[in-house]
Amino acid sequence: MAEPKPPRAEDPLRSKIMRAVKRSSTRAERALAEALLRLGVSFETNDRSLPGTPDIVLPHKRLAVFVHGCFWHRHPGCPRATFPKTHVDYWAKKFKANVERDKRKIQALEEMGWNVKVVWECEVLRDAEQVAHVLLADDG
Ligand code: ZN
Repeated sequence: MAEPKPPRAEDPLRSKIMRAVKRSSTRAERALAEALLRLGVSFETNDRSLPGTPDIVLPHKRLAVFVHGCFWHRHPGCPRATFPKTHVDYWAKKFKANVERDKRKIQALEEMGWNVKVVWECEVLRDAEQVAHVLLADDG
């Protein structure tokens, strides 16, 4: 196994962050996970035991969070949610399927008694800490 080792974490918070976010796939997910850790919140990432594999789960609040990419999940009115100019039918179908899948996931979680929040990539990248505060402030 010639894979290079990741750099050693310098402090406990840093290594906690590294562990928590290693399975998170997007920059926005990592930013939000990091903001929550800095606030001392415990959470799971990419919980496969739940419908739709929520990006972040706060078990103590029974809160499941999806960090949605603005392009793929069609953030309404967002400049990142551009519409490709070619293969329009293909994209229209694909986007519709994504949005409908999102709705089904959220519904399945709510039926299991979870609170579900969707946060958008652009909001998290703008101010992850603010998004984290909003998530924690809701439905206490
Ligand atoms: Zn957006």
